[in-house]
Amino acid sequence: MTQYDYDLFVIGAGSGGVRAARMAAGLGVRVAIAEDRYLGGTCVNVGCVPKKLFVYASHFHEDFSASAGFGWTGIKPEFDWSHLMAQKNQEIKRLQGIYDGLIKNSGARLFEGQASVIDAHTISVVGQIISCERILVATGGWPSVPDFPGKEHVATSNEMFALQELPKRLMIVGGGYIAVEFAGIMHGLGVETTLCYRGDKILRGFDEDIREFVAIEMQKKGINILFNTQINAIEKNDNGFIAQTDAGQSLQSDLFLYATGRSSNTSGLGLDAVGVALDQSGAIKVNEHYQTNVSSIYALGDVTDRLNLTPVATAEAMALVNQLYTDTPTTVDYDNIPTAVFSQPNVGTVGLSEAEARSRYTDIDIYKSVFTPMKHTLSGLDEKTLMKMIVRRSTDQVLGIHMVGPDAGEIIQGMAIAIRAGATKAVFDSTIGIHPTAAEEFVTMRSPVG
Ligand code: FAD
Ligand code: NDP
Repeated sequence: MTQYDYDLFVIGAGSGGVRAARMAAGLGVRVAIAEDRYLGGTCVNVGCVPKKLFVYASHFHEDFSASAGFGWTGIKPEFDWSHLMAQKNQEIKRLQGIYDGLIKNSGARLFEGQASVIDAHTISVVGQIISCERILVATGGWPSVPDFPGKEHVATSNEMFALQELPKRLMIVGGGYIAVEFAGIMHGLGVETTLCYRGDKILRGFDEDIREFVAIEMQKKGINILFNTQINAIEKNDNGFIAQTDAGQSLQSDLFLYATGRSSNTSGLGLDAVGVALDQSGAIKVNEHYQTNVSSIYALGDVTDRLNLTPVATAEAMALVNQLYTDTPTTVDYDNIPTAVFSQPNVGTVGLSEAEARSRYTDIDIYKSVFTPMKHTLSGLDEKTLMKMIVRRSTDQVLGIHMVGPDAGEIIQGMAIAIRAGATKAVFDSTIGIHPTAAEEFVTMRSPVG
């Protein structure tokens, strides 16, 4: 009989924590899991799920207007934010219930409260002291807003999911995933939206063509983008809020959304007392086995700040459980992880950007196609699609695929399988297209453009 109350104590019932707890419990491991805010974590409550529902909601705006070109007339819809919020909240409640069931049916014990680490084998939660052989920290991240006068006036993505009413004007600060996605959402819902970014191209880290192209498409739809603009201070006034930029400009808006990144959620966990090492940004440092410098304490998902995506957190959880509790250990391959930005139009990407590919190899061919999606031949909307493929000439291997256009996330998911399978350009070329689709463009690109 083991000396501990549990074999594994998981802190945080988000994407990674729940997957690890369920899988381990399913293998007969004695598991407890603590959650102090909401079952399902960021993704279910203030992330992927409500965000995608908002994206759907906002896109109708354009669909209604596009329908006239196809013969639909007399459509004069009105948008009801409170109805959308009620529907969204109901769906989240349903998902929370599913998570509750998944945890309990797996045999794991759920503690609803804040957990903290007392020592390498001891947890404090809801007034109880619990011993465990191993601790897994899967506490995710939290929006981070830089320090400046007036910081208290701004909203983060968390508050956007609880807004009582839509503002008339919205200023979004940042140029990453959340800023770009919320710009599309709020613009589509009829909010006068401005994106304020400190650099000269949004979506740093993505392929340069994608960065330029998506910004142009967003601007064409009516989103105002201020590049090279940094806000120094924000004050409340009779007209909402006013910001001062470092260039001496005044920016007036009803709401400022700061989407300036997220930091690892480690406060109040007691990690410093146990000596768990953090990196410079405050993320928990782990080795390839998700193990911290304290051998019984593990961490994964956003709290380790590597690739902060739900499928990565769940993949890490499965790898950890396989490593600790099965004879068939697995690892996560961090290369070629596909990702989508649910901007309007979508961005989808997998593999190397052109710049990354050129920095590694000298023999790179670029295939590119910019076209008007078939739907927009009649819709009256001026939206273009960009598709780009990066190929290494000497091996014919496809190194990267990038797209801006409707359903780019859906399309790139399939492309990611081909890339992982090591598909060559010849394999793409010999694949029969599905006509008429946008995706068929990826199997019909014949001549390199660079
Ligand atoms: P989380 O899901 O954040 O879970 C951590 C949990 O730990 C939380 O429930 C928290 O309450 C709990 N917790 C923290 N401290 C304690 C404590 N001391 N005691 C008990 N419980 C504690 N990713 C995608 O792949 N696709 C998307 O479309 C996408 N959209 C996003 C949109 C937004 C607006 C945001 C913010 C994120 C989005 N993400 C998306 C990222 C995704 O949500 C995260 O990568 C994912 O949730 C990380 O999972 P996790 O398990 O590491 O942490
Ligand atoms: P990101 O790291 O993607 O973007 C942060 C943005 O804020 C960058 O443009 C950055 O500029 C800017 N910024 C940072 N600090 C400052 C500052 N002090 N002043 C002004 N601007 C600043 O973070 P997000 O908050 O958008 O999202 C967090 C993470 O959540 C994402 O990276 C992603 O992993 C995940 N996510 C995934 C989604 C998806 O899969 N669809 C959707 C939403 C979130 P610069 O580029 O110059 O550094």
